[in-house]
Amino acid sequence: MSENKKITVTSPLLPDLEDFIPMLRDIWERKWLTNNGHYHQELENELAKYLGVNYISLFTNGTLPLITALQAMRITGEVITTPYSFVATTHSIWWNGLKPVFVDVDEKTGNIDPEKIEAAITPRTTAIMPVHVYGTPCNTKRIQEIADIYGLKVIYDAAHAFGVKVNGESILKQGDMSTLSFHATKVYNTVEGGALICHDEATKKRIDYLKNFGFAGETTVVAPGINSKMDEIRAAYGLLNLKQVDGAIAKRKAAAEKYREALKDVPGIRFLNDIEGVHHNYAYFPIFIDEKKYGLSRDALYEKLKEYNIFGRRYFYPLISTFSAYKGLESARPENLPIAHKLADQVLCLPMFAGLQGEDVERTINVIAAR
Ligand SMILES: *Cc1c(COP(=O)(O)O)cnc(C)c1O
Repeated sequence: MSENKKITVTSPLLPDLEDFIPMLRDIWERKWLTNNGHYHQELENELAKYLGVNYISLFTNGTLPLITALQAMRITGEVITTPYSFVATTHSIWWNGLKPVFVDVDEKTGNIDPEKIEAAITPRTTAIMPVHVYGTPCNTKRIQEIADIYGLKVIYDAAHAFGVKVNGESILKQGDMSTLSFHATKVYNTVEGGALICHDEATKKRIDYLKNFGFAGETTVVAPGINSKMDEIRAAYGLLNLKQVDGAIAKRKAAAEKYREALKDVPGIRFLNDIEGVHHNYAYFPIFIDEKKYGLSRDALYEKLKEYNIFGRRYFYPLISTFSAYKGLESARPENLPIAHKLADQVLCLPMFAGLQGEDVERTINVIAAR
């Protein structure tokens, strides 16, 4: 095994180029490049089937569905969310002129702690935006109970949760809406891309107006919409990748099992285990390092791996609540978010992608175990 080969934290799932070329030829012949074209419609249908949802709208990336979901439901005032996520979650709230309110997370999963939501609700709160971090399902039952009591909408940022099911049912059925990202680094990608899932036809119609400037007809504009339509080239690419995503998830699972088997005996290293009844997608392999027990800090291990040409990623660090746009908010005070800070200081995502070789996993494990 080569010590010099660079091992990256992720690598994109690519369709076979030979399969893509005939589709490109077909697009060239049709001369219909975007605006709900042939491949766009086909990908919406195939994704709805694959994911087990009734209404899905394709987008150009995973951030615009978050922004559009808040628009579609006319959310106002304050939105309760988590600081332990990718920045786009909070940015989408800000871009709607709304106030994000951070709530601390559960130490075991990194997901928003439902028991801390009620204390953050004010008369201005209208929605909750949780994230299924690393694809681990949130406590959706408890979150919905709270939302129902206070009359709040729930929008799940499900960017990490492609294909995740709980007791056989898609996690995307939870809440009022869910969003997906099909960015190159995700389990399933369309290069850039994303989707918004809702639960009724009228809402899907509204979403589809909003992603096309608000056009409801040739001369009718019903809302100040945006442009976030997925084009035909990426929809065709997405159809090919959909055919191989199950195989990709199986390979990720094998890598996760190899990591777990080896790391379970290393003191001071915690990782996430499978949850009974959950169909996981193995989107990430985060480990949490207890410096005292392990003997090295997270940052020291991160640097050490780099010396061996292995590139982990401190995901999520820094917390969203520490960025300049948000750190002045009352809810962003570190005292309000002790668990999120602890996880952000301990976490390191190890290399995880479908093409990761067994020997690459072993090399990574050996560096960690040797400490
Ligand atoms: C990737 C990601 C997004 C944004 O998706 P893009 O497709 O990159 O715009 C949003 N939220 C989370 C949690 C993500 O990981």
